[in-house]
Amino acid sequence: MSLTDLTIAGAQRALRAGETTPLALAEAHLAAIERVNPRLNAFVTLHGERTLEAARAADPRLPLGGIPLGLKDIFCTEGVRTTAGSRILGNFVPPYESTVTAKLRAAGAVSLGKLNLDEFAMGSTNANSMHGPCVNPWSPAGRDLVPGGSSGGSAAAVAARLALGATATDTGGSIRQPAAFCGVAGIKPTYGRCSRWGIVAYASSLDQAGPMARTVEDCALLLHEMAGHDPKDSTSADVAVPDFAAACARSVKGLRIGVPGEYRPEGLSPEIAAVWDQGLDWLREAGAEIVPVSLPHTKHALATYYIVAPAEASSNLARYDGVRFGLRKLHQGGNLNDLYEESRAAGFGQEVQRRILIGTYVLSAGYYDAYYLKAQKLRALIRRDFDEAWRSCDAILAPATPTAAFSLAEQPDDPVTMYLNDVFTITANLAGIPGLALPAGLAAAGLPLGLQLLGRPFEEETLFALGSAMEKAAKFTHKPGIAA
Ligand code: GLN
Repeated sequence: MSLTDLTIAGAQRALRAGETTPLALAEAHLAAIERVNPRLNAFVTLHGERTLEAARAADPRLPLGGIPLGLKDIFCTEGVRTTAGSRILGNFVPPYESTVTAKLRAAGAVSLGKLNLDEFAMGSTNANSMHGPCVNPWSPAGRDLVPGGSSGGSAAAVAARLALGATATDTGGSIRQPAAFCGVAGIKPTYGRCSRWGIVAYASSLDQAGPMARTVEDCALLLHEMAGHDPKDSTSADVAVPDFAAACARSVKGLRIGVPGEYRPEGLSPEIAAVWDQGLDWLREAGAEIVPVSLPHTKHALATYYIVAPAEASSNLARYDGVRFGLRKLHQGGNLNDLYEESRAAGFGQEVQRRILIGTYVLSAGYYDAYYLKAQKLRALIRRDFDEAWRSCDAILAPATPTAAFSLAEQPDDPVTMYLNDVFTITANLAGIPGLALPAGLAAAGLPLGLQLLGRPFEEETLFALGSAMEKAAKFTHKPGIAA
C-alpha cells in the first residue's frame, strides 16, 4: 500500500513497527502535493523545508509522532503566513501559534502546510477565497465541482491523499458539509471542547475547531490531541478529554437513535432520503433502536443563524482597519476615514462585505430588538428542542447536506439559495452540540453522500461509537478520481 493511502492509525502502527519513518511519510505526501495540488488548489501555503525538518525531528512514540497533517489557513501558525482566505490579512505572518495547532505539534504531528478556505470561513463552496477556488477531487472530467466550504481545502486534501488528516473549523457546517461533499469523516465537537485561541474569529459563539480524516477512528485520534481546556480562551470548557479512539470500539447495542421528522422536508432528494434510511438500517442491525423525535424550531434555524453569525462577524471583523496589520489602502491626501473605507473595500470580498452589512444592520439601534434579540430567543428554543429530544434518544441521525457536491457554474448566483446548504448543519452550532459527519455511500453520479450524527454536549464518545458502527457497515473505500 502506498504511504499516502494509509490511515492515521495504520501509519502509527507502521511507524512504531519501524516499517516506515516520519521522513518517508512527509516526503511521500510532499511529492503527492506537488503532483496533484496544482489541479486542486487545496494547499495555499507550503513550506517543504520546514516540513522535512519537523519530520526528521518527529518521535513516533508521541501520540501523533510523524503524522503529516494539513492545517486550515484560519489557524494562526507562528512564522507561517495565515490569510483566512482574505486579502485584508494579506501576507500576515503571526508571531504566535494557535492552541490547537500547538497541541498537535506537541503531540508530534508534522505540518505539510496551510489549506484553502472561504474568506473568514464564510461560505459553502470555497469559492470565496483570495487564493481562488479549490476543486473537489471527485470532479468528473471537464466539470469542476465544489469541495464544499468553508473547509474545502481540508476536505479536498484529505480525500485526495495529500494529507492523512487536517484541521478545520465549523461555525455553521464548515467541517461536516465539505466532509460529506468529499467523502471523508469530520467532527464538529461540542462548543468549548477545543480552544478558539489563535483561530481567526468568524462568529465567536458558534466557531469550533475539529478534525477531518478518512476514518472515524482517525478523527478520534486527532480530536484527542486537539481538545482540552485552555486558560487563554474563556469559553473553552474545563472538562476531561476522554479516550475517543477507545470509544470507537464500543457497542452501540441499546442506544436510541432519534429521527427528526423536520429534517425530512417535502422534496428532500430521494438519494439523500435513501442513504439516510440505509444508515438507520445499519444502526438497527448493530443493535440500536430507532425512535422518532421532534425538533419543531428547525424551520427557524437558517434565519436565526444568518442573523447571529453576521452580527458576531461584523463585530469581530471591525478590527481590520488598515492600521495595525494586513492590507492598507489610502489615496494621496486621504484622511483616517478614507483609510478605513479604502482598506476595507479593497480587502474584504463580496460575501464578507454582505455579512458585515447584515450584521451591522441587525445590531443597530432600532433594529436590535426586532432582529438580533429575536434571533437570540429563537436560538434558545432551538437548543431547548434538543434538550427535549435527549429525553427519548441518545443521538440523532440526519443527512449532512441536502445534495451531493455541485458545480459552481451551474448554481444560481443567489446568496440565499447558497445559505440553504446549511439547513441540516447549523442547528448543532446554534445549540452547541457535537456533530460527526461520515461518508455513507455514492450517489448515482458517483459522488459521495454523507450522513451526520448529533449528540448530547460533551458526549462525542457516543458519536464515535455509532459512527464506527456505521462505517463498518458502509465499507466506503472508494477513492476520488483526482488523487495521489
Ligand atoms: N456555510 C456557512 C456560512 O457561510 C457555514 C460556514 C462555517 O461553518 N464556517 O456561514
